[in-house]
Amino acid sequence: AVLLSGAAYMMQDQKVYADEMERTFIAIKPDGVQRGLISEIVSRFERKGYKLVAIKLVVPSKDFAQKHYHDLKERPFFNGLCDFLSSGPVLAMVWEGEGVIKYGRKLIGATDPQKSEPGTIRGDLAVVVGRNIIHGSDGPETAKDEIALWFKPSELVSFTSNAEKWIYG
Ligand code: ADP
Repeated sequence: AVLLSGAAYMMQDQKVYADEMERTFIAIKPDGVQRGLISEIVSRFERKGYKLVAIKLVVPSKDFAQKHYHDLKERPFFNGLCDFLSSGPVLAMVWEGEGVIKYGRKLIGATDPQKSEPGTIRGDLAVVVGRNIIHGSDGPETAKDEIALWFKPSELVSFTSNAEKWIYG
């Protein structure tokens, strides 16, 4: 009976922490990778208390970049942006945690690094809008679509981290 209740508790943990937690798509763009900023950026999400559930280094094709940025296809910078995203390795990630979509955007900072607050990733580490080093989903729908575009379901890892009880209480 003790074992059974232990298992049930674990199942509840898995449900609360693994299945129902919010997820967002975060990518370090080719400029961030080339500048050696991977560990700096990953550590900001990790230290905050978010959980990394998928990660891979990919060089997207231009066609793939156009899919990723399809919402911006009418913008004058669209072509250059897609050329840039497909110009080298991108570190694609999925991060999980309570409120991670919205707060992840706060950690990243405003689109234009000249308007990003100091303390944010773009504020601290980038200078111009065309080389702002990182992408983060801007809402729940985009997060869902972008995770599905960049990752197969089997590449997403559901697990309970021992730190969760200290992060969420
Ligand atoms: P965010 O990345 O903050 O969600 P947007 O979705 O508006 O911002 O734009 C996507 C990306 O397009 C930006 O991160 C930036 O790399 C690029 N971009 C946005 N505005 C410009 C611009 N005026 N000139 C060049 N590139 C831009």
